[in-house]
Amino acid sequence: MARDLIIVGNWKMYKTSREAAHFIEQLLPKIEGCKARVFLAVPYTSISTAAAAARLAKVEVGAQNMNDARDGAFTGEIAALMLKEAGASFVLLGHSERRRVFGESDTFIHRKVVRALQDDLLPVLCVGETLEEREGGQTEEILKKQIDSALVDLPEEKIGELILAYEPVWAIGTGKIATPEIAQETHAFCRKCLGDLLGKRKAGQIPILYGGSVKPENVGSLVSQKDIDGVLVGGASLDPESFAEIIQQCEGI
Ligand code: PEP
Repeated sequence: MARDLIIVGNWKMYKTSREAAHFIEQLLPKIEGCKARVFLAVPYTSISTAAAAARLAKVEVGAQNMNDARDGAFTGEIAALMLKEAGASFVLLGHSERRRVFGESDTFIHRKVVRALQDDLLPVLCVGETLEEREGGQTEEILKKQIDSALVDLPEEKIGELILAYEPVWAIGTGKIATPEIAQETHAFCRKCLGDLLGKRKAGQIPILYGGSVKPENVGSLVSQKDIDGVLVGGASLDPESFAEIIQQCEGI
């Protein structure tokens, strides 16, 4: 089953909209002609500027979070339709920083996935275990719970329209990275979970990305694995040079 190669940058709470425009201006000539799908998850305030700057390129711009409600009295929150109108085409959901720092529950994340699909934003669902959970032999149990709870009872016609990102919490921003073998084994398990829940055919269509301390030097051995369809990059996506190098390395596989 041929799946798209996808590289997502997650800028977290970095870059003003002026800095975002400058980044994209520097990035585009470096990735001209590349075939991979390139996504940038930018701060809310940079979405419209980034989307305008990336308009003629293949770069898709998205958000890092959203609320599950269509609208309402939720001070400080943002809705899918607002993101879409600003120029977002996708949204990260369930990032470990949202789960751990902001206490987001599996049920809240599930409601967000449903809302994103209803309002035509592509959800990039992030799942991953902590170091304690991995060392305690709980990785599969945790991943199954996160996948099952987020993706249960989705509208039938929308099921294939999502991306899964496996991001071991112990690898995010730490410089530690899963070996390609561990990453492949875990991705294969995630695909099995998708198959049990959504059917084998759909599971074969859903791209599964690896995230956690991805750099130009380690990305090649990850994306050459059978079930790794691309990467989600935090720190190394903040510099156009290293982000472009990651994209070029992936293209060379
Ligand atoms: C992330 O923020 O999703 C991430 C993977 O960060 P980093 O690449 O810095 O580990």
